[in-house]
Amino acid sequence: MTHRTLISGGIVFSMDDAIGDLPVGDVLLEEDRIVDVAARIDAPDAQRIDARNRIVMPGLIDSHRHLWQSTIRQIAADWTMGQYVERMLGGLGPQFDAEDVYAATLLGALEALNGGVTTIFDWAHIVNTPEHADAAVAALAEVGGRAVFGYGVPRSPAPSWYPADLARIRSTYFSSADQRLGLAVASLGPEFSSVEETVVDIELARRLDLTTSLHLGVGLLGAQRAVTRMDEHGLLGPDLIFVHCNTCTDEELVRIRQTGGHVSISPRVEMQMGHGYPATGRLIDAGLQPSLGVDVVSGVGGSLFAEMRGTLEAERGRQNCEALERGEWTAALRLTTRDAVRFATIEGARALGMEDRIGSLTPGKQADVVMLKVDLPNLSLVNDLPAAVTLADSENVDAVFVAGRLVKAAGTLLSHDMRTVQDRARLSRDRLLPGLTLTQRPAVAGAPGR
Ligand SMILES: [Zn+2]
Repeated sequence: MTHRTLISGGIVFSMDDAIGDLPVGDVLLEEDRIVDVAARIDAPDAQRIDARNRIVMPGLIDSHRHLWQSTIRQIAADWTMGQYVERMLGGLGPQFDAEDVYAATLLGALEALNGGVTTIFDWAHIVNTPEHADAAVAALAEVGGRAVFGYGVPRSPAPSWYPADLARIRSTYFSSADQRLGLAVASLGPEFSSVEETVVDIELARRLDLTTSLHLGVGLLGAQRAVTRMDEHGLLGPDLIFVHCNTCTDEELVRIRQTGGHVSISPRVEMQMGHGYPATGRLIDAGLQPSLGVDVVSGVGGSLFAEMRGTLEAERGRQNCEALERGEWTAALRLTTRDAVRFATIEGARALGMEDRIGSLTPGKQADVVMLKVDLPNLSLVNDLPAAVTLADSENVDAVFVAGRLVKAAGTLLSHDMRTVQDRARLSRDRLLPGLTLTQRPAVAGAPGR
């Protein structure tokens, strides 16, 4: 018998222009799909879920996150780009074994799901050996969210086994295009390897029919004009996701748009580490719509709600400063809270080439649905729907469906005992960060200094 679920009486934030926002509405799921979204749906045969005091919206989509750093969270919170490259990529990364990748990916993917992120591009430039890739895929599969595994080698030059291993991973785990997990290439790109190696990565990805994501326009490295050089090699195209783009020129951003490319930004990490000012407004001027990623979970944590807020604050700060420099007050804010929610949902789906399947509550799409509890202190009384979503956080994520399957209910993840996951993460963390005792004993205010 067909299983149907009626999410009933919620505040429906569909992100579908034809449906709009429904102050009170129902969402009907059938197996893995959304079949109807309307003010009122009669479905007596469906299992009814009471959505009163809930915002019902599409699952969030993170288009760039390094899940492998989830066990060593917070350590990069005060780091610059130089310190990150030296300590994380140069120091800790090579020490990760396959178990460390598994423990971190499991913890980080569960954190994402708990926070309403139903689809994640796991930018896994931690494939130190083929077993590391198997471990990450195993953890992603186990968690139950939707994910794109971004297969990435950690440094240049790439090991000789990499092309064959990417093909092995594809044929072993990703034989079907419509499955819950997808595969992509996480290329170091021209700024972190070379144009020649980027050519190899992209040609390999295209042979295997995979998307390629690459970081560029990163701080001073942007002076290399990576997009321009890729363009000269005929590499640009709609199968590319450009991460950051802070120091790309306006002309380069236009070339990304003209060639159908996609962009993922992480304004909080970018402002912290020195990538350059977040490109949000310049991207929009170039005709591009960004998607969002939290990027360095070891620095800024895993909340995509926080990333929405950071995106708004950065762009608004820029707009206001520029107005003041002209001796003017800003008349109206250019970037809205609705834009930020759009970046974190449907634009993420577009970046991943999945807009026909996810990113909005649209009949026919996959049933990736989040219910936000609005009768908690931080969201009591909803007066503006998109603003309420940007001001929410993981504590508000009451229920999560992925492909119609309930993975979080009544504020609790259903698939895993978090204590067991954390115990496994702690073992890995203790091995990677031995002697980490200071931060476990925070100084008590007023106590004599040690
Ligand atoms: Zn990154």
